[in-house]
Amino acid sequence: MGDGHDHTPQPASSDGAPRPLKQEQEEATEEITEVARGILRLQLPTNFTGLGHVNTYAIEDSRGFTLVDPGLPSDESWAALVARLRSAAIPVERVHTVYITHSHPDHFGGAHRLVEASGADVLTSTMFRKWIDILDLDETPLEPFDPADAVEAGTILDAVAAADDETLAREYPGIVGFRERVRAAVADGRIEEMSWLKAPRPTIVVDDMQPVRMGDREWIGLLTPGHTHDHLCMWSPEDGVVLSGDHVLPTITPHVAGFWGGDTLASYMANLDKVAALEGVTTVLPAHGHPFGDLADRCRAIKEHHDVRLGQLVSAAPTTGWATVTTWSEHLFSPRSRGPMADSETHAHLEHLRLTGRAERRPIDDGHEYRVVA
Ligand SMILES: [Zn+2]
Repeated sequence: MGDGHDHTPQPASSDGAPRPLKQEQEEATEEITEVARGILRLQLPTNFTGLGHVNTYAIEDSRGFTLVDPGLPSDESWAALVARLRSAAIPVERVHTVYITHSHPDHFGGAHRLVEASGADVLTSTMFRKWIDILDLDETPLEPFDPADAVEAGTILDAVAAADDETLAREYPGIVGFRERVRAAVADGRIEEMSWLKAPRPTIVVDDMQPVRMGDREWIGLLTPGHTHDHLCMWSPEDGVVLSGDHVLPTITPHVAGFWGGDTLASYMANLDKVAALEGVTTVLPAHGHPFGDLADRCRAIKEHHDVRLGQLVSAAPTTGWATVTTWSEHLFSPRSRGPMADSETHAHLEHLRLTGRAERRPIDDGHEYRVVA
């Protein structure tokens, strides 16, 4: 299921010139910049879903450094991280904490080696790894969810963990298919293909609105499910900095996965409102692209994008009737943007319409089809 970033189709320019790269697609450079007090931006290479780099932020304090999102599990990414740390005069052993914003491999993949080299703590949201646990691939038994974690994402995963095979196939066909593919790959010895599933076990878990000390200042953890069920932003009220991960990106619209079922779009939109309402934000540090200032404005633009998409589905309803997710996705995405990611996001939109009474779903041989009724 990989990372997801929706490369919003844009009209081709009239002279046929190639479109300029979006910030998030720019290749990683060796440049190291102080983007806020005591916070350095390092860029690591990624070729993940069309992105060019991932930002690894180094936050300094009297004990050493917290590193945010240390890149992919690849040798290339690790070599770049070591080189960047050297340029920034940060000895690896001074890294005491690795903060992972969410469970996508371009964010957690580099953590294993970093932890091995530094003995750092791994800080995540309380929800991190839960979806890997439900794949049931390692020896660790499933832990029951704490009711305190019963945000929507937790509720979905809890339902999945408790469901019998028949319920799973009916309500969460995406998970069944994914788990089968993973198990087949493991059984065939193709475990390397699945190496991105090896997420580290967190040693510090942060709940919504929980204060956290990083960089000799207090941050507030913001649980922000939507892009993934376990996304965790951080807000420093003292100096107006938000580490936004993939929840809010400067120029591309973060992918919202419909794979799990449930109203992930509603969660995502509510969590855009949640961060847009933060007071005194002056510097947003995203996981891809450049720092930016106006968080509320960017959240508004992303919400508008989703409202437009929902409107397109509703407009297509009379001529489409009952149709598969892939067919619906053709109303939203240009041919070059279609595929599993587009389907996944269309699924999120259709489930949102269904769960708000504007669409119906019925089973077909290999999944579901939808009819929009609004
Ligand atoms: Zn992501």
